[in-house]
Amino acid sequence: MRCPGTRSALLLALFAAAAPAASAAPTLKGRAVWASPREAGTTEASVVAFVEQLDQAHVNTLIMELKTSAGLFWPSERFAPAVVAEYKAFDLPAVLIRECHKRKIAFHVWFFDFAEGGNSYVAQQHPEWLALSPEGKPTTAEVLRGQPYRMAWMCPARRPGYTDQWLIPLIKEFAERYDVDAIHHDYVRYPGDLAPDTYCFCDYCLEEIPKYASFYSTTHPDDPLTAPMDRPHLEAHWERSPKVLPPNWKDYSREMKSRFLLEGSFFPGGNRDLDYFFYEYRAHHVAEFTRQVFEEVRKVKPKMEFSAAVFKNPVQSGRFIGQDWRRFSPWVQYLMPMDYRSHYAGDFETHLDLLAESIQQQKAWARDFAHFWPGVAATQLYDEEREPVTRLRRLLRDGGKDLAEMQAAFDKVAPRLETFAPDLHDALAAYLKEPKNPEDPTAKLDAFLANVPEGYYPPERLTRTLERVRAQDVEGVVIFSTGGISSARLWKAVEEFFGR
Ligand SMILES: [Zn+2]
Repeated sequence: MRCPGTRSALLLALFAAAAPAASAAPTLKGRAVWASPREAGTTEASVVAFVEQLDQAHVNTLIMELKTSAGLFWPSERFAPAVVAEYKAFDLPAVLIRECHKRKIAFHVWFFDFAEGGNSYVAQQHPEWLALSPEGKPTTAEVLRGQPYRMAWMCPARRPGYTDQWLIPLIKEFAERYDVDAIHHDYVRYPGDLAPDTYCFCDYCLEEIPKYASFYSTTHPDDPLTAPMDRPHLEAHWERSPKVLPPNWKDYSREMKSRFLLEGSFFPGGNRDLDYFFYEYRAHHVAEFTRQVFEEVRKVKPKMEFSAAVFKNPVQSGRFIGQDWRRFSPWVQYLMPMDYRSHYAGDFETHLDLLAESIQQQKAWARDFAHFWPGVAATQLYDEEREPVTRLRRLLRDGGKDLAEMQAAFDKVAPRLETFAPDLHDALAAYLKEPKNPEDPTAKLDAFLANVPEGYYPPERLTRTLERVRAQDVEGVVIFSTGGISSARLWKAVEEFFGR
Protein backbone atom coordinates (compact mmCIF):
# COMPACT_ATOMS: atom_id res chain seq x y z
CA MET A 1 0.00 0.00 0.00
CA ARG A 2 1.24 3.47 -0.88
CA CYS A 3 2.24 5.63 2.05
CA PRO A 4 0.08 8.80 2.21
CA GLY A 5 1.98 12.09 1.98
CA THR A 6 2.00 14.55 4.85
CA ARG A 7 -0.69 16.74 3.28
CA SER A 8 -3.14 13.92 2.58
CA ALA A 9 -2.41 12.36 5.99
CA LEU A 10 -3.28 15.71 7.58
CA LEU A 11 -6.49 15.94 5.53
CA LEU A 12 -7.43 12.42 6.50
CA ALA A 13 -6.87 13.20 10.18
CA LEU A 14 -8.94 16.39 9.89
CA PHE A 15 -11.71 14.54 8.06
CA ALA A 16 -11.77 11.74 10.64
CA ALA A 17 -12.01 14.30 13.44
CA ALA A 18 -14.73 16.30 11.68
CA ALA A 19 -16.95 13.40 10.69
CA PRO A 20 -18.54 11.56 13.61
CA ALA A 21 -19.40 7.90 12.94
CA ALA A 22 -23.16 8.57 13.02
CA SER A 23 -23.09 10.80 9.96
CA ALA A 24 -20.81 8.54 7.91
CA ALA A 25 -21.96 7.71 4.38
CA PRO A 26 -24.26 4.69 4.05
CA THR A 27 -22.24 1.49 3.88
CA LEU A 28 -24.57 -0.64 1.78
CA LYS A 29 -23.95 0.09 -1.91
CA GLY A 30 -27.42 -0.90 -3.16
CA ARG A 31 -30.35 0.60 -1.24
CA ALA A 32 -33.41 -0.10 -3.36
CA VAL A 33 -37.19 -0.14 -3.11
CA TRP A 34 -39.88 -1.62 -5.31
CA ALA A 35 -42.75 0.82 -5.85
CA SER A 36 -46.14 1.13 -7.50
CA PRO A 37 -47.11 4.17 -9.63
CA ARG A 38 -50.09 4.88 -7.36
CA GLU A 39 -47.56 5.81 -4.66
CA ALA A 40 -46.11 8.54 -6.86
CA GLY A 41 -49.51 9.93 -7.85
CA THR A 42 -50.40 11.90 -10.98
CA THR A 43 -49.09 15.40 -10.32
CA GLU A 44 -45.66 17.04 -10.31
CA ALA A 45 -46.09 17.83 -6.60
CA SER A 46 -47.01 14.26 -5.63
CA VAL A 47 -44.02 12.87 -7.53
CA VAL A 48 -41.65 15.36 -5.90
CA ALA A 49 -42.99 14.47 -2.43
CA PHE A 50 -42.61 10.75 -3.21
CA VAL A 51 -39.00 11.10 -4.37
CA GLU A 52 -38.17 13.42 -1.42
CA GLN A 53 -39.28 10.64 0.90
CA LEU A 54 -36.94 8.16 -0.84
CA ASP A 55 -34.02 10.57 -0.62
CA GLN A 56 -34.69 11.23 3.05
CA ALA A 57 -34.54 7.45 3.68
CA HIS A 58 -31.19 7.14 1.79
CA VAL A 59 -32.78 5.05 -0.98
CA ASN A 60 -30.48 5.19 -4.02
CA THR A 61 -32.38 2.94 -6.45
CA LEU A 62 -36.08 3.15 -7.31
CA ILE A 63 -37.69 0.21 -9.11
CA MET A 64 -41.03 1.49 -10.36
CA GLU A 65 -43.63 -0.73 -12.01
CA LEU A 66 -44.82 0.89 -15.22
CA LYS A 67 -46.24 -2.14 -17.02
CA THR A 68 -48.57 -4.13 -14.80
CA SER A 69 -51.59 -6.37 -15.33
CA ALA A 70 -53.57 -3.07 -15.41
CA GLY A 71 -51.70 -1.67 -18.42
CA LEU A 72 -48.97 0.85 -19.19
CA PHE A 73 -48.19 3.87 -17.02
CA TRP A 74 -46.55 6.09 -19.61
CA PRO A 75 -48.12 7.95 -22.54
CA SER A 76 -47.02 5.44 -25.18
CA GLU A 77 -47.93 6.35 -28.74
CA ARG A 78 -47.36 3.00 -30.39
CA PHE A 79 -49.18 1.10 -27.62
CA ALA A 80 -51.71 3.83 -26.81
CA PRO A 81 -54.77 1.58 -26.30
CA ALA A 82 -52.95 -0.18 -23.41
CA VAL A 83 -52.17 3.01 -21.46
CA VAL A 84 -53.94 3.44 -18.09
CA ALA A 85 -56.35 6.41 -18.36
CA GLU A 86 -54.77 8.76 -15.77
CA TYR A 87 -51.35 8.39 -17.39
CA LYS A 88 -52.33 9.35 -20.93
CA ALA A 89 -51.87 13.05 -20.22
CA PHE A 90 -49.39 12.96 -17.31
CA ASP A 91 -45.91 11.74 -18.24
CA LEU A 92 -45.09 10.01 -14.95
CA PRO A 93 -41.71 8.52 -15.93
CA ALA A 94 -40.44 11.84 -17.31
CA VAL A 95 -41.09 13.59 -14.00
CA LEU A 96 -39.99 10.66 -11.84
CA ILE A 97 -36.70 10.15 -13.67
CA ARG A 98 -35.94 13.88 -13.59
CA GLU A 99 -36.60 14.05 -9.82
CA CYS A 100 -34.68 10.85 -9.10
CA HIS A 101 -31.63 11.89 -11.08
CA LYS A 102 -31.60 15.31 -9.40
CA ARG A 103 -31.04 13.39 -6.16
CA LYS A 104 -28.68 10.76 -7.63
CA ILE A 105 -31.28 8.00 -7.31
CA ALA A 106 -31.02 5.37 -10.05
CA PHE A 107 -34.25 4.49 -11.83
CA HIS A 108 -35.15 0.93 -12.89
CA VAL A 109 -38.35 0.59 -14.91
CA TRP A 110 -40.23 -2.51 -13.80
CA PHE A 111 -42.17 -4.62 -16.31
CA PHE A 112 -44.58 -7.47 -15.69
CA ASP A 113 -43.18 -9.59 -18.50
CA PHE A 114 -45.49 -12.51 -19.26
CA ALA A 115 -48.46 -11.68 -16.99
CA GLU A 116 -51.27 -9.55 -18.42
CA GLY A 117 -54.66 -8.65 -16.99
CA GLY A 118 -57.49 -10.86 -18.26
CA ASN A 119 -59.16 -7.78 -19.74
CA SER A 120 -55.98 -6.15 -20.96
CA TYR A 121 -55.92 -4.74 -24.46
CA VAL A 122 -53.36 -7.20 -25.78
CA ALA A 123 -55.01 -10.27 -24.22
CA GLN A 124 -58.28 -9.26 -25.87
CA GLN A 125 -56.77 -8.32 -29.23
CA HIS A 126 -54.42 -11.27 -29.53
CA PRO A 127 -55.97 -14.36 -27.95
CA GLU A 128 -53.67 -16.41 -30.22
CA TRP A 129 -50.72 -15.25 -28.06
CA LEU A 130 -52.16 -16.63 -24.79
CA ALA A 131 -50.56 -19.59 -23.05
CA LEU A 132 -52.91 -22.57 -23.32
CA SER A 133 -53.57 -25.64 -21.18
CA PRO A 134 -53.88 -29.20 -22.60
CA GLU A 135 -57.61 -28.44 -22.87
CA GLY A 136 -56.80 -25.42 -25.06
CA LYS A 137 -57.86 -22.91 -22.40
CA PRO A 138 -56.08 -19.75 -21.18
CA THR A 139 -55.24 -19.10 -17.50
CA THR A 140 -58.32 -16.87 -17.18
CA ALA A 141 -60.49 -20.01 -17.44
CA GLU A 142 -59.00 -21.28 -14.15
CA VAL A 143 -60.34 -20.86 -10.61
CA LEU A 144 -58.02 -20.16 -7.68
CA ARG A 145 -59.21 -20.27 -4.05
CA GLY A 146 -62.81 -20.15 -5.24
CA GLN A 147 -62.29 -17.02 -7.38
CA PRO A 148 -61.91 -16.69 -11.17
CA TYR A 149 -58.19 -16.36 -11.95
CA ARG A 150 -57.65 -12.85 -13.26
CA MET A 151 -54.27 -12.92 -14.90
CA ALA A 152 -53.82 -13.82 -18.54
CA TRP A 153 -50.44 -15.50 -18.95
CA MET A 154 -48.92 -15.13 -22.40
CA CYS A 155 -46.86 -17.77 -24.20
CA PRO A 156 -43.17 -16.82 -23.87
CA ALA A 157 -42.06 -19.17 -26.67
CA ARG A 158 -44.36 -18.39 -29.61
CA ARG A 159 -42.81 -16.56 -32.59
CA PRO A 160 -44.27 -14.44 -33.98
CA GLY A 161 -46.17 -13.80 -30.75
CA TYR A 162 -46.47 -11.78 -27.59
CA THR A 163 -42.72 -11.77 -26.87
CA ASP A 164 -41.42 -10.41 -30.17
CA GLN A 165 -44.53 -8.52 -31.38
CA TRP A 166 -45.56 -6.77 -28.17
CA LEU A 167 -43.32 -7.14 -25.11
CA ILE A 168 -39.87 -6.52 -26.57
CA PRO A 169 -41.07 -3.64 -28.81
CA LEU A 170 -42.70 -1.84 -25.90
CA ILE A 171 -39.65 -2.26 -23.66
CA LYS A 172 -37.54 -0.94 -26.51
CA GLU A 173 -39.87 2.01 -26.99
CA PHE A 174 -39.54 2.89 -23.31
CA ALA A 175 -35.75 2.59 -23.42
CA GLU A 176 -35.57 4.89 -26.44
CA ARG A 177 -37.90 7.46 -24.99
CA TYR A 178 -36.60 7.78 -21.42
CA ASP A 179 -33.23 8.20 -19.72
CA VAL A 180 -33.71 5.09 -17.60
CA ASP A 181 -30.83 3.35 -15.77
CA ALA A 182 -32.09 -0.23 -16.02
CA ILE A 183 -34.94 -2.43 -17.24
CA HIS A 184 -36.40 -4.59 -14.47
CA HIS A 185 -37.92 -7.99 -15.25
CA ASP A 186 -40.73 -9.43 -13.14
CA TYR A 187 -43.07 -12.34 -13.92
CA VAL A 188 -40.22 -13.50 -16.13
CA ARG A 189 -41.53 -17.05 -15.97
CA TYR A 190 -44.59 -19.30 -16.34
CA PRO A 191 -47.48 -19.22 -13.82
CA GLY A 192 -46.74 -20.90 -10.49
CA ASP A 193 -49.93 -20.58 -8.48
CA LEU A 194 -51.91 -22.63 -10.99
CA ALA A 195 -50.98 -26.24 -11.76
CA PRO A 196 -47.33 -25.75 -12.72
CA ASP A 197 -47.35 -28.41 -15.42
CA THR A 198 -50.29 -27.02 -17.38
CA TYR A 199 -48.68 -24.36 -19.62
CA CYS A 200 -47.92 -23.93 -22.39
CA PHE A 201 -49.50 -26.34 -24.85
CA CYS A 202 -50.52 -23.81 -27.50
CA ASP A 203 -50.32 -24.91 -31.15
CA TYR A 204 -46.87 -23.39 -31.47
CA CYS A 205 -45.47 -25.18 -28.41
CA LEU A 206 -46.99 -28.52 -29.46
CA GLU A 207 -44.99 -28.16 -32.70
CA GLU A 208 -41.85 -26.75 -31.14
CA ILE A 209 -41.25 -28.93 -28.06
CA PRO A 210 -40.67 -32.09 -30.19
CA LYS A 211 -38.37 -30.12 -32.53
CA TYR A 212 -36.45 -28.48 -29.68
CA ALA A 213 -35.80 -31.84 -28.05
CA SER A 214 -35.16 -33.67 -31.39
CA PHE A 215 -38.01 -36.11 -30.87
CA TYR A 216 -37.88 -36.73 -34.65
CA SER A 217 -35.75 -35.65 -37.60
CA THR A 218 -37.19 -32.87 -39.74
CA THR A 219 -35.30 -34.23 -42.80
CA HIS A 220 -36.14 -37.90 -42.10
CA PRO A 221 -39.37 -37.59 -40.15
CA ASP A 222 -40.43 -41.22 -40.58
CA ASP A 223 -37.06 -42.81 -39.89
CA PRO A 224 -36.97 -44.59 -36.50
CA LEU A 225 -33.24 -43.68 -36.26
CA THR A 226 -32.59 -46.73 -34.12
CA ALA A 227 -29.34 -48.66 -33.66
CA PRO A 228 -28.52 -52.16 -32.45
CA MET A 229 -29.54 -52.54 -28.84
CA ASP A 230 -26.11 -53.75 -27.70
CA ARG A 231 -26.02 -52.22 -24.22
CA PRO A 232 -27.67 -53.69 -21.16
CA HIS A 233 -29.62 -50.57 -20.24
CA LEU A 234 -32.46 -49.29 -22.43
CA GLU A 235 -31.75 -45.57 -21.91
CA ALA A 236 -28.08 -46.16 -22.76
CA HIS A 237 -29.06 -46.03 -26.45
CA TRP A 238 -30.09 -42.37 -26.39
CA GLU A 239 -27.35 -40.60 -28.31
CA ARG A 240 -28.58 -41.21 -31.86
CA SER A 241 -31.78 -39.33 -30.95
CA PRO A 242 -34.16 -42.10 -32.02
CA LYS A 243 -37.61 -41.00 -33.08
CA VAL A 244 -39.63 -40.46 -29.89
CA LEU A 245 -43.00 -39.45 -31.33
CA PRO A 246 -45.51 -42.22 -32.12
CA PRO A 247 -46.06 -42.89 -35.89
CA ASN A 248 -49.60 -41.45 -35.83
CA TRP A 249 -48.60 -38.29 -33.88
CA LYS A 250 -50.40 -36.03 -36.33
CA ASP A 251 -53.70 -37.71 -35.40
CA TYR A 252 -53.23 -37.00 -31.68
CA SER A 253 -55.50 -34.32 -30.18
CA ARG A 254 -54.06 -31.41 -28.17
CA GLU A 255 -54.86 -33.21 -24.92
CA MET A 256 -53.22 -36.45 -26.16
CA LYS A 257 -50.12 -34.62 -27.39
CA SER A 258 -49.82 -32.67 -24.15
CA ARG A 259 -50.14 -35.82 -22.11
CA PHE A 260 -47.52 -37.59 -24.17
CA LEU A 261 -45.07 -34.67 -23.88
CA LEU A 262 -45.52 -34.57 -20.11
CA GLU A 263 -45.97 -38.22 -19.16
CA GLY A 264 -44.49 -40.19 -22.03
CA SER A 265 -41.19 -42.07 -22.31
CA PHE A 266 -38.16 -41.37 -24.49
CA PHE A 267 -38.00 -45.13 -25.22
CA PRO A 268 -41.19 -47.19 -25.41
CA GLY A 269 -41.33 -49.09 -22.14
CA GLY A 270 -38.58 -46.97 -20.59
CA ASN A 271 -38.59 -44.35 -17.85
CA ARG A 272 -41.38 -41.78 -18.01
CA ASP A 273 -38.89 -39.01 -18.61
CA LEU A 274 -40.31 -36.71 -21.31
CA ASP A 275 -41.30 -34.11 -18.69
CA TYR A 276 -37.60 -33.28 -18.39
CA PHE A 277 -37.63 -31.92 -21.96
CA PHE A 278 -40.84 -29.97 -21.35
CA TYR A 279 -39.28 -28.19 -18.35
CA GLU A 280 -36.06 -27.61 -20.24
CA TYR A 281 -37.97 -26.04 -23.14
CA ARG A 282 -39.73 -23.63 -20.80
CA ALA A 283 -36.56 -22.59 -18.97
CA HIS A 284 -34.85 -22.12 -22.33
CA HIS A 285 -37.53 -19.80 -23.67
CA VAL A 286 -37.68 -17.63 -20.57
CA ALA A 287 -33.88 -17.18 -20.65
CA GLU A 288 -34.02 -16.68 -24.42
CA PHE A 289 -36.38 -13.75 -23.87
CA THR A 290 -33.86 -12.08 -21.51
CA ARG A 291 -31.22 -12.46 -24.24
CA GLN A 292 -33.41 -11.09 -27.03
CA VAL A 293 -34.63 -8.08 -25.08
CA PHE A 294 -31.05 -7.32 -24.00
CA GLU A 295 -29.83 -7.41 -27.60
CA GLU A 296 -32.73 -5.34 -28.96
CA VAL A 297 -32.48 -2.65 -26.29
CA ARG A 298 -28.69 -2.43 -26.54
CA LYS A 299 -29.11 -1.55 -30.24
CA VAL A 300 -30.71 1.72 -29.19
CA LYS A 301 -29.13 2.17 -25.72
CA PRO A 302 -25.71 0.49 -25.77
CA LYS A 303 -25.12 0.86 -22.02
CA MET A 304 -28.54 -0.19 -20.75
CA GLU A 305 -28.50 -2.51 -17.75
CA PHE A 306 -31.07 -5.07 -16.64
CA SER A 307 -32.32 -6.27 -13.28
CA ALA A 308 -34.67 -9.12 -12.41
CA ALA A 309 -36.94 -10.15 -9.53
CA VAL A 310 -36.62 -13.93 -9.25
CA PHE A 311 -37.67 -16.78 -6.98
CA LYS A 312 -35.33 -17.97 -4.28
CA ASN A 313 -34.10 -21.28 -5.69
CA PRO A 314 -33.36 -21.50 -9.45
CA VAL A 315 -33.21 -25.31 -9.36
CA GLN A 316 -36.78 -25.47 -8.09
CA SER A 317 -38.12 -22.50 -10.04
CA GLY A 318 -36.56 -23.97 -13.20
CA ARG A 319 -38.73 -27.04 -12.77
CA PHE A 320 -41.92 -25.37 -11.54
CA ILE A 321 -42.12 -22.04 -13.41
CA GLY A 322 -39.47 -22.21 -16.14
CA GLN A 323 -37.27 -19.73 -14.27
CA ASP A 324 -33.77 -21.16 -13.99
CA TRP A 325 -32.29 -17.71 -13.47
CA ARG A 326 -28.71 -18.94 -13.54
CA ARG A 327 -29.16 -18.79 -17.33
CA PHE A 328 -29.94 -15.04 -17.22
CA SER A 329 -26.47 -13.95 -16.15
CA PRO A 330 -25.12 -12.72 -19.52
CA TRP A 331 -28.18 -10.49 -19.97
CA VAL A 332 -29.12 -9.40 -16.47
CA GLN A 333 -26.71 -7.43 -14.29
CA TYR A 334 -28.71 -7.05 -11.08
CA LEU A 335 -30.11 -10.23 -9.58
CA MET A 336 -32.84 -9.55 -7.01
CA PRO A 337 -34.26 -12.71 -5.45
CA MET A 338 -37.62 -12.15 -3.76
CA ASP A 339 -36.62 -13.61 -0.40
CA TYR A 340 -39.98 -12.75 1.10
CA ARG A 341 -41.20 -14.21 4.35
CA SER A 342 -44.15 -15.78 2.51
CA HIS A 343 -41.61 -17.90 0.60
CA TYR A 344 -40.43 -19.58 3.81
CA ALA A 345 -42.22 -21.83 6.25
CA GLY A 346 -42.31 -21.28 10.00
CA ASP A 347 -42.37 -18.39 12.46
CA PHE A 348 -40.39 -15.17 12.21
CA GLU A 349 -37.23 -16.54 13.85
CA THR A 350 -37.24 -19.70 11.70
CA HIS A 351 -37.70 -17.50 8.65
CA LEU A 352 -34.57 -15.51 9.56
CA ASP A 353 -32.48 -18.69 9.63
CA LEU A 354 -33.95 -19.96 6.35
CA LEU A 355 -33.41 -16.54 4.79
CA ALA A 356 -29.70 -16.52 5.71
CA GLU A 357 -29.35 -20.09 4.44
CA SER A 358 -31.04 -19.15 1.14
CA ILE A 359 -28.83 -16.13 0.60
CA GLN A 360 -25.70 -18.21 1.06
CA GLN A 361 -26.94 -20.66 -1.58
CA GLN A 362 -27.95 -17.81 -3.88
CA LYS A 363 -24.52 -16.20 -3.66
CA ALA A 364 -23.01 -19.34 -5.17
CA TRP A 365 -25.68 -19.58 -7.88
CA ALA A 366 -25.41 -15.85 -8.64
CA ARG A 367 -21.65 -15.70 -8.97
CA ASP A 368 -21.85 -14.75 -12.67
CA PHE A 369 -24.05 -11.71 -12.03
CA ALA A 370 -22.43 -8.31 -11.55
CA HIS A 371 -24.73 -7.38 -8.65
CA PHE A 372 -26.64 -9.46 -6.12
CA TRP A 373 -29.27 -7.60 -4.07
CA PRO A 374 -31.72 -9.83 -2.17
CA GLY A 375 -35.25 -8.50 -1.61
CA VAL A 376 -37.43 -8.59 1.50
CA ALA A 377 -41.16 -7.83 1.79
CA ALA A 378 -41.66 -5.34 4.64
CA THR A 379 -45.31 -5.91 5.51
CA GLN A 380 -45.03 -9.71 5.41
CA LEU A 381 -42.89 -9.48 8.55
CA TYR A 382 -46.02 -8.48 10.49
CA ASP A 383 -48.38 -11.40 9.88
CA GLU A 384 -48.65 -11.95 13.67
CA GLU A 385 -49.88 -8.39 14.25
CA ARG A 386 -52.04 -7.99 11.16
CA GLU A 387 -53.75 -11.33 10.72
CA PRO A 388 -55.71 -11.36 14.05
CA VAL A 389 -56.96 -7.81 13.43
CA THR A 390 -58.14 -8.54 9.89
CA ARG A 391 -59.74 -11.74 11.23
CA LEU A 392 -61.63 -9.72 13.85
CA ARG A 393 -62.81 -7.41 11.09
CA ARG A 394 -64.07 -10.34 9.03
CA LEU A 395 -65.84 -11.93 12.01
CA LEU A 396 -67.59 -8.64 12.79
CA ARG A 397 -68.67 -8.34 9.16
CA ASP A 398 -70.09 -11.87 9.42
CA GLY A 399 -72.36 -10.68 12.26
CA GLY A 400 -69.90 -10.75 15.17
CA LYS A 401 -71.46 -13.90 16.62
CA ASP A 402 -68.46 -16.24 16.77
CA LEU A 403 -67.30 -14.90 20.11
CA ALA A 404 -64.88 -17.76 20.80
CA GLU A 405 -62.94 -17.14 17.60
CA MET A 406 -63.09 -13.39 18.13
CA GLN A 407 -61.72 -13.79 21.64
CA ALA A 408 -58.90 -16.02 20.36
CA ALA A 409 -57.94 -13.42 17.74
CA PHE A 410 -58.20 -10.58 20.25
CA ASP A 411 -55.99 -12.37 22.80
CA LYS A 412 -53.18 -12.53 20.23
CA VAL A 413 -52.98 -8.76 19.81
CA ALA A 414 -54.54 -7.36 23.00
CA PRO A 415 -51.27 -6.20 24.62
CA ARG A 416 -50.15 -4.37 21.47
CA LEU A 417 -53.57 -2.79 20.99
CA GLU A 418 -53.61 -1.66 24.62
CA THR A 419 -50.33 0.17 24.01
CA PHE A 420 -50.88 1.57 20.52
CA ALA A 421 -54.69 1.82 20.16
CA PRO A 422 -56.23 1.86 23.66
CA ASP A 423 -59.65 3.06 22.42
CA LEU A 424 -59.93 0.15 20.01
CA HIS A 425 -58.65 -2.26 22.67
CA ASP A 426 -61.31 -1.12 25.12
CA ALA A 427 -64.09 -1.18 22.53
CA LEU A 428 -63.21 -4.77 21.50
CA ALA A 429 -62.86 -5.89 25.13
CA ALA A 430 -66.25 -4.38 25.97
CA TYR A 431 -67.88 -6.02 22.94
CA LEU A 432 -66.48 -9.43 23.84
CA LYS A 433 -67.65 -9.04 27.42
CA GLU A 434 -71.16 -7.93 26.43
CA PRO A 435 -71.91 -8.37 22.70
CA LYS A 436 -75.24 -6.53 23.10
CA ASN A 437 -73.18 -3.50 24.05
CA PRO A 438 -74.58 -0.57 22.02
CA GLU A 439 -71.10 0.32 20.79
CA ASP A 440 -70.07 -1.65 17.72
CA PRO A 441 -66.25 -1.60 17.41
CA THR A 442 -66.36 -1.94 13.61
CA ALA A 443 -65.87 1.77 12.87
CA LYS A 444 -62.89 1.95 15.23
CA LEU A 445 -61.41 -1.17 13.68
CA ASP A 446 -61.79 0.26 10.16
CA ALA A 447 -60.14 3.50 11.22
CA PHE A 448 -57.30 1.51 12.80
CA LEU A 449 -56.72 -0.60 9.68
CA ALA A 450 -56.81 2.46 7.42
CA ASN A 451 -54.17 4.21 9.50
CA VAL A 452 -52.24 1.82 11.74
CA PRO A 453 -50.51 3.76 14.53
CA GLU A 454 -46.75 4.09 14.46
CA GLY A 455 -45.09 1.33 16.45
CA TYR A 456 -47.93 -1.17 16.24
CA TYR A 457 -45.88 -3.03 13.66
CA PRO A 458 -42.58 -3.40 15.56
CA PRO A 459 -39.97 -1.69 13.36
CA GLU A 460 -37.18 -3.78 14.89
CA ARG A 461 -38.52 -6.78 13.03
CA LEU A 462 -37.77 -5.08 9.71
CA THR A 463 -34.41 -3.91 11.04
CA ARG A 464 -33.46 -7.39 12.23
CA THR A 465 -34.43 -8.86 8.86
CA LEU A 466 -32.37 -6.29 6.97
CA GLU A 467 -29.42 -6.78 9.34
CA ARG A 468 -29.62 -10.52 8.78
CA VAL A 469 -29.46 -9.94 5.03
CA ARG A 470 -26.51 -7.55 5.36
CA ALA A 471 -24.72 -10.04 7.66
CA GLN A 472 -24.54 -12.39 4.65
CA ASP A 473 -22.13 -9.91 3.07
CA VAL A 474 -24.28 -8.73 0.18
CA GLU A 475 -23.79 -5.65 -2.01
CA GLY A 476 -27.35 -4.36 -1.75
CA VAL A 477 -30.89 -4.91 -0.49
CA VAL A 478 -34.29 -4.27 -2.09
CA ILE A 479 -37.39 -3.62 0.03
CA PHE A 480 -40.89 -4.43 -1.19
CA SER A 481 -42.53 -1.95 -1.23
CA THR A 482 -42.90 1.81 -0.74
CA GLY A 483 -46.64 1.30 -0.19
CA GLY A 484 -46.00 -1.33 2.48
CA ILE A 485 -43.36 0.80 4.17
CA SER A 486 -45.82 3.71 4.33
CA SER A 487 -48.82 1.71 5.54
CA ALA A 488 -46.79 -0.06 8.23
CA ARG A 489 -45.09 3.23 9.17
CA LEU A 490 -41.59 1.96 8.65
CA TRP A 491 -39.88 4.89 6.88
CA LYS A 492 -37.97 5.82 10.04
CA ALA A 493 -36.63 2.25 10.33
CA VAL A 494 -35.63 2.25 6.65
CA GLU A 495 -33.90 5.60 7.03
CA GLU A 496 -31.92 4.39 10.05
CA PHE A 497 -30.90 1.13 8.40
CA PHE A 498 -29.95 2.59 5.03
CA GLY A 499 -28.17 5.50 6.73
CA ARG A 500 -25.77 3.19 8.54
ZN1 LIG B 1 -47.07 -21.77 -26.15
